[in-house]
Amino acid sequence: MTAVADRLAQRIRIAGPISVADYMEEVGAFYYAARDPLGGTGDFITAPEVSQIFGELIGLWCAELWQRLGAPDPVLLVELGPGRGTLMADALRAARIVPGFGQALRLHLVEHSPVLRAKQGEVLGAHAPHWHDSTATLPPGPMLLVANEFLDALPIRQFERRASGWHERRIGLDAGGARFVFMLEPTPSPLGTQLPRAPEGTIAELSPATAALGRAVGARLAREGGAALFIDYGYFPSACGDTFQALRRHRTHAVLEEPGSADLTAHVDFAAFAAAARAGGAVVFGPVTQAAFLARLGLTARAAMLLRRASAAQAASIRSACRRLIDPAEMGDLFKVLALGQKGAAMPSGFDEVVS
Ligand code: SAH
Repeated sequence: MTAVADRLAQRIRIAGPISVADYMEEVGAFYYAARDPLGGTGDFITAPEVSQIFGELIGLWCAELWQRLGAPDPVLLVELGPGRGTLMADALRAARIVPGFGQALRLHLVEHSPVLRAKQGEVLGAHAPHWHDSTATLPPGPMLLVANEFLDALPIRQFERRASGWHERRIGLDAGGARFVFMLEPTPSPLGTQLPRAPEGTIAELSPATAALGRAVGARLAREGGAALFIDYGYFPSACGDTFQALRRHRTHAVLEEPGSADLTAHVDFAAFAAAARAGGAVVFGPVTQAAFLARLGLTARAAMLLRRASAAQAASIRSACRRLIDPAEMGDLFKVLALGQKGAAMPSGFDEVVS
């Protein structure tokens, strides 16, 4: 058993079965605390690790928005879950072409993993980043916030529809006490009122942690100004289904096997996130697909520039990276982009409609 499995088993023996959210939170903290899970030799790969163009376009998006906001100085540039710091390094390099932005920005990174904080320090040290455990400790002032593949790591709770209502799914131990198993709370959950009607056996998910973040960021933007950009895999509108998954070395892994050895995530319910941000006081743009967003931001033109200076081998890898980002069969469709702003804000680049 992994150390976190021992801890979870002990907790269950003492206090009974735990929610999927408690399991995700405890396993996730352990998983990220000790490793860099990204890249070819890790468990999964993300868009900024696929191509530098991804971070560059986001950097230009931020710099353009900063100008539109009236070039506030100072401005907080915040990233949630920066991983290896690749997105931010590419973004800052590209944004240098916008005069004044580099001097105005104060870099704040929300990251709980000491291993990844160290990596971020290596690539972003020149920008003197400040680290935070959560958004709660960010200093006041206008901010530009980006988060790629952050929301999918936040804990979800799961429910199963029975004749009597929605029952919360919990994780306990089997009769032998050696394996983690799903079980159902015997009485219906009061949270069932937030879930739709569905046939018996249906699984549905709620993420109080994601909603709380949406409300907090929305309220902060309403109060202090700025904008936020969230990119993640997920769905819109809200829907039922089991999206809890584990990835280990780029393959799906059973979520309850060897906890702590694989990355645990869930798809993001963008409609629920948008509703929470709106309740906090922000205006919501999108979501649009990652393919549409990157196309509007000029992915093709940027790739063409890189191709001009590329060797044949480099050209092939640039083309395949771009395909990976925008192909509907890869990241193009499943990944979605949502922006938040202050009420009355003009639509940011890359979006085509205001949902609220
Ligand atoms: N944005 C990066 C990394 C995505 S992986 C990229 O696109 O490559 C998820 C990141 O979020 C990691 O940096 C992880 O350590 C961080 N993270 C996950 N849950 C977190 C939490 N609750 N608080 C702070 N950071 C978290």
